Amino acid sequence: MGRVIGVDLGTTYSCVAHLEGESPVVIPNLEGFPTTPSVVSFTTAGERLIGNLAQRQAITNPGNTIFAVKRLIGRKYRSPEIVEAMKRMPFRLIEAGNGDVMISLDSQVLTPQEISALILSYLKLCAESFFGEVVTDAVITVPAHFNDHQRQATKDAGQISGLNVLRVINEPTAAGLAYGLNTKKNMTAAVFDMGGGTFDVTILEINDGVFHVLATNGDSYLGGEDFDNRIVGWLVEEFKKHGGADFLEDKLALQRVKEACERAKRELSFTMETEINLPFISSKGAGSKHIRRSISRGLLEDLTGDLVDRTIPLIDRALGDCRLSVGDIGEVILVGGQTRMPLIKEKVSKHFNKRPAEHVNPDEIVAMGAAIQAGIIKGSIKDLVLLLDVTPFSLGIETENQTYQKIIERNTTIPARKTMPFTTVEHNQRRVRIHVLQGESEFATENKSLATFELVGIEPAPAGVPQIDVTFEINADGIVKVSANDVVSGRQQRIQVRASSGLSSADIAKIMEKEKAVHLRK
Ligand code: AMP
Repeated sequence: MGRVIGVDLGTTYSCVAHLEGESPVVIPNLEGFPTTPSVVSFTTAGERLIGNLAQRQAITNPGNTIFAVKRLIGRKYRSPEIVEAMKRMPFRLIEAGNGDVMISLDSQVLTPQEISALILSYLKLCAESFFGEVVTDAVITVPAHFNDHQRQATKDAGQISGLNVLRVINEPTAAGLAYGLNTKKNMTAAVFDMGGGTFDVTILEINDGVFHVLATNGDSYLGGEDFDNRIVGWLVEEFKKHGGADFLEDKLALQRVKEACERAKRELSFTMETEINLPFISSKGAGSKHIRRSISRGLLEDLTGDLVDRTIPLIDRALGDCRLSVGDIGEVILVGGQTRMPLIKEKVSKHFNKRPAEHVNPDEIVAMGAAIQAGIIKGSIKDLVLLLDVTPFSLGIETENQTYQKIIERNTTIPARKTMPFTTVEHNQRRVRIHVLQGESEFATENKSLATFELVGIEPAPAGVPQIDVTFEINADGIVKVSANDVVSGRQQRIQVRASSGLSSADIAKIMEKEKAVHLRK
């Protein structure tokens, strides 16, 4: 059997880790960096770039450089999230036959699963060159608010990349594991996670090694890139004030400016002042222009303080949802590269009146937790109980008059299985339609539709006589299977719905074949 890895498949950056003995260790990518941009680019020369090389194409080849695919995976084209994403993404999104979103490039159309699979393949390759051995298995993390489709789609991406996905676990749970919270008997923790593109706050309860997601909130468009853009905006104004042309028009110049601003932001987490130095940034008009500006930590905080402030009401909303206050939180954990910023640490400490637990590398902690979870499953960490998680949403079916019957309540520890009996509403009803829903509202239409299927061949009987048992099963990855069983008629007919990512097994097999062909041609 090959090696096992833990993967944090992030919106802007991804990270891979493994266990050395019982300690999680991050595996550097092929360029020696601990994290890899979650970016894939297809060049006009037919090359496929992944990671840092792809990110450098973001502005010069925008239609064929795919970033933030995590915002798309497992989503329908007509969902509000995709409508929002479309306003911001420079590449073209289209609707697949099954209603899913797909990415249309100059030369081909790809599913989000395939793009994620390319990132995962790259991380697998990094790990294989690090070990000098084949990697076969992985634990992959997802945000706590990911629904069933998104989780299944992430698993499918793993499969396409050639990984056996042992488990899909929640990111805040992975962070909690890496901080050893599972060893605490009873406690409540807040995980504050700000990466490059998104902000998530999760309230976790830990009881005897079992993690419960009590509440989660956030802003899917608040992250490190907003901080970078504030510096870019300031620099543009400064440059114009001093007679420079507007380099926003010049794509190559803008790319360089963005990269320099992000670098300056990172440096200001450790020094009080730094310099942005970009020689020959513009050659428009009379002669070449250079940018050389110093920027202080104080100025960065003035430019971005309101972005940090936006997190506070979101934290309070998460606490309010589980009827807790800041005083109830035993541990605050910082996750995500942007939390290295001192102003964030300061404001979070002040709000909770508690010093947060911080790791030197907050962008690696989720992957490390995933590696620990992989070690627990594989038995290489003996002392820890098998980590359990809970389902973040209730699951059930639509019943008469568009009402919603919950079958598995939210916060149920998974894996879980529950059966509930139902019956027919009309005389001699031969078939029933089972509409699987996820959510908390008592009205079916206000919940999220996951799947529909029919149980046919029910023996004719008066209304209310047949007994149809509906069984919900959630496996350890949070993936749901539903079956219906006609008991009274004596005819056993079971129909199972596999929660689908939009790709069938045949689709996945076809993509894997295509990928093999690509590799062989190289
Ligand atoms: P992640 O997705 O967790 O890897 O976070 C990526 C984000 O963290 C990017 O926006 C980075 O610019 C930001 N980041 C990384 N290092 C630092 C740092 N030292 N100070 C501030 N932000 C950082």
